Amino acid sequence: MTSDATELPYAAVGELLSVSEALEAILSRVKPLPAEPVRIGEARGRVLASAARAVVDLPPFASSAMDGFAVRAEDTPGELPVVFRVAAGGPAQRPLAAGEAMGIATGGVVPEGADTVIPIEYVVDHDNKIEIREAAATGAHIRPRGGDLRAGDAVVEAGVRLGAAQLGALAAAGVAEVECALRPRAAVATTGTELRRPGEALGPGQIYEANGLILAAQLEGAGAVVELSEAVADDEDAHRSALERGLAADVLVTSGGVSVGPHDLVRQVEAELGVVEVFWRVAVKPGKPIAFGVRGETLVFGLPGNPVSALVGFELFVRPAVLALQGAADPRPRFRRGRLAAAARRNGGRDELIRARTSTDGDGVTVLDPLRGQESHMIGQAAGADALVLVPRGDGELPAGATVEYLALE
Ligand code: AMP
Ligand code: MG
Repeated sequence: MTSDATELPYAAVGELLSVSEALEAILSRVKPLPAEPVRIGEARGRVLASAARAVVDLPPFASSAMDGFAVRAEDTPGELPVVFRVAAGGPAQRPLAAGEAMGIATGGVVPEGADTVIPIEYVVDHDNKIEIREAAATGAHIRPRGGDLRAGDAVVEAGVRLGAAQLGALAAAGVAEVECALRPRAAVATTGTELRRPGEALGPGQIYEANGLILAAQLEGAGAVVELSEAVADDEDAHRSALERGLAADVLVTSGGVSVGPHDLVRQVEAELGVVEVFWRVAVKPGKPIAFGVRGETLVFGLPGNPVSALVGFELFVRPAVLALQGAADPRPRFRRGRLAAAARRNGGRDELIRARTSTDGDGVTVLDPLRGQESHMIGQAAGADALVLVPRGDGELPAGATVEYLALE
């Protein structure tokens, strides 16, 4: 499973969809959201809906790459009078004449007539004249106008998410505003009568609600605007009102209540509310009972309640959908390669994503050390992980040292 593979090497497993089949079933139902203009100061993490084009040449003029002296190469070596000192933002008022030098700062406009810059380290500066001992090469230490980008060039292509380098490039090229897909609106509804908020006292059989914050953090990291509501009790009326509210969003993500127990009501109530189920259950561990459906344009994800299942299911299925809604060019999970530090037993029927801690060995290879507690309720153990390692289904085990694919956790 590599980042650029669109068809991943999985086939259907019994009646369960494989991870890649489930992902394609989701992505084939995602329609990118419309675009809106966004000031670049507000555009971090947004995905470009159309290419952003340079307003100016970059650099906008031939500029010096060094602090030094602008001269004509043919006047070197030699002794030249310094007729002006060019500062960044303070260009010369006249061209450089034959036999002259101008002091120039990094970023200063190379005066007309000059064709080379001699770094300060290579001249003897007598204040109003300089000595140049060696012949200079034409064009040295000059950044040509447009050498980085030409006005009209695409600075950032459509489908790219804007991070530090992209935002810097847009600013440098004079782009003030870009077209970005709307941020998806995501509703999170956690289900379970047993769930309480941290800070409240736990009654018999109660636990603290964890998935809401997990999913809200992941959704926001993927670019969505999140509405997180109170945990929903396991009764049909409570489900009906919470889910109906959530279905107004572009993406509804629920946790819990998608297994086969008598209190697992999510799929049934969603069906009553008009959600058309696309699939239920995927050959993956953890997270097998995941459900996906649509109502109109709303994407509806039912993640299992165990916190690690919710976390993993999000990375495999929900994050790609949220990125695809924003028109991301490459929304699929970005698997990288590393080396397993300890053997990992394979599951006969399901691909498994195990939690691991990364480090780097002497050769610069990422080493993945599986955590001891791998059960899907063990969010406390998962807090020590920064990677999910893919252990493909099959017999036996992956030996220590095996090359594996993993997803980095944010
Ligand atoms: P469910 O998928 O509803 O059967 O839940 C599976 C397990 O996950 C049960 O032990 C639940 O108590 C637990 N669980 C469900 N939702 C949450 C949540 N939001 N936070 C923490 N644990 C949960
Ligand atoms: Mg439940």
